[in-house]
Amino acid sequence: MAIMEEVKTSSDEGESCFWHIDDNITLMIKAIFFDQDNTLVNTREVAGETYREAINWVAAQKKIDSEKLFADWREILDTLKNSKKPEERQFSYSLSRVVKEDDLVEDAVAIQKKRLGGVIQLNAGVEEFFKKKIDGMKYILMTEDFDDQIEIKLSKFGLKERFDLIVGSSNVGLMKPNIKFLEIAWEKFGLDPKECLYVGDNFEKDCQIGKDNGGKTIIFGKDDIRADYRMDDFTELAGILKILG
Ligand SMILES: [Mg+2]
Repeated sequence: MAIMEEVKTSSDEGESCFWHIDDNITLMIKAIFFDQDNTLVNTREVAGETYREAINWVAAQKKIDSEKLFADWREILDTLKNSKKPEERQFSYSLSRVVKEDDLVEDAVAIQKKRLGGVIQLNAGVEEFFKKKIDGMKYILMTEDFDDQIEIKLSKFGLKERFDLIVGSSNVGLMKPNIKFLEIAWEKFGLDPKECLYVGDNFEKDCQIGKDNGGKTIIFGKDDIRADYRMDDFTELAGILKILG
């Protein structure tokens, strides 16, 4: 028997589709928290080439060695990787530490964003899973990205509109893990933390606090014995929800 069937509903916005999980089952999970990078989209796989293109462009403008500029930028990046300030984790910030001309930084960031928007892809099963919504389930995006970055990574797939709430750096201003990311959603929707599911590729950042508060966790694309489930394809998510009851 199919785990879920499609249900078409009509609303003011027209016809929309929901995943409908068997009538006899009331799902325990009422909200799913999704990490973005390396969970929904393949950021790690494509980010390198986007920074490379932007830095090559700056080097060409300045007529300097691009390898040297790239190495200098990487060095700055290393010093910032544990920064707790989201703004310091932005490309514009790290690049401005090695390129003093504001206009070049601005144009380079635009080049990087354009390339990223072109090459970023959804991970396995994401498109299929989000095509329809599970009726009544809250979908929450929990990311350190700012709105403009979320826009680049998710809008081309029409995914941004799929979330009931986006908790990102533009409204939290903190790095993960931080309970504030979760509390905003718990409070907004009156959620019981025990009825929440957390999906991410980094247990500490995406799952740990949720689990500590009684929620369930899925690690994406790797093994982590601390997580309740491992998933390599989002089409597995419906089955896991059903197992959770
Ligand atoms: Mg991630």
